[in-house]
Amino acid sequence: MKKDDCIFCKIANGEIPSDTVYEDEMFRAILDLSPAVKGHTLILPKQHFDDLLTADGETLSAALKLAQKIARAQKAALKCDGINVVQNNGEAAGQTVHHLHFHVIPRYADGEKIVTWPQLTSEPEEQKMIAASIAKNL
Ligand code: AMP
Ligand code: ZN
Repeated sequence: MKKDDCIFCKIANGEIPSDTVYEDEMFRAILDLSPAVKGHTLILPKQHFDDLLTADGETLSAALKLAQKIARAQKAALKCDGINVVQNNGEAAGQTVHHLHFHVIPRYADGEKIVTWPQLTSEPEEQKMIAASIAKNL
């Protein structure tokens, strides 16, 4: 299903032009308009899902396979040294377009790290409680 007011629905389904690197019946992969690095590609399902949590399994499996295909093509075309695959869910996680998408970002040995986080120290008892609480909800 498409969502009327969703820009990525329009782009994925070809109603708005984009720099497309790949298209099939499930997906369109496009260059990000404001790339973190040249070649930064977005994988957009043609069907609308808000995010990872609401997407179906078939779409998610196919998206990851496509991420591999795009990553291999970026490596061959752009001679990058590594690839980040990034996927944001919810505003708290930095999601700005609420249509499921995967970022596939070429990385270079001499470039700065763009996916970083603070490394907190963990407390063993608390870790056990957190693990149990997540496990209970699976
Ligand atoms: P996120 O923050 O994970 O929701 O990522 C949204 C991404 O979409 C950002 O990297 C934007 O630069 C990119 N973006 C937004 N609008 C467009 C557009 N019209 N065409 C291509 N990329 C876009
Ligand atoms: Zn959409």
